[in-house]
Amino acid sequence: MRLTPIRRQVLDALYATHRPMSAYDLIDRLAPHEGDKRPAPITVYRALDFLLDNGFVHKLESRNAFIACPFRHAPGDLVVFMICEQCGGVDEACSDELRGALTHLAQIQGFSPRANILELAGRCAHCAGPTETAAQSTPSS
Ligand SMILES: [Zn+2]
Ligand SMILES: [Zn+2]
Repeated sequence: MRLTPIRRQVLDALYATHRPMSAYDLIDRLAPHEGDKRPAPITVYRALDFLLDNGFVHKLESRNAFIACPFRHAPGDLVVFMICEQCGGVDEACSDELRGALTHLAQIQGFSPRANILELAGRCAHCAGPTETAAQSTPSS
């Protein structure tokens, strides 16, 4: 699929980081130097809408931020984001089991989900591991 330059730039900026970025973070990233021509927010939002619709990026509703997707999902795939509150890193995972359970739950309630995205807040393996080990092994003398 062909991407216009602004869509390509926005996608590249998102791929360059594992952190979710807001539209304004992206504008700063696209015009990092003083005097750079800054894209208008509406331009960036339109590029993001296109990338969202075509599965290149996801939106983290809780943060009003966007993150590049490394997977090629089928339409309606359930996506689970694990958001680390310590380092700000985001891991993406998929689960067919969970999707089946959620679809069933929504059907019982007669609910039509707009997006199949779950967000878990907490601490990533990287932050949880070394920090606690270090704390336990710190000499008390
Ligand atoms: Zn994804
Ligand atoms: Zn972390």
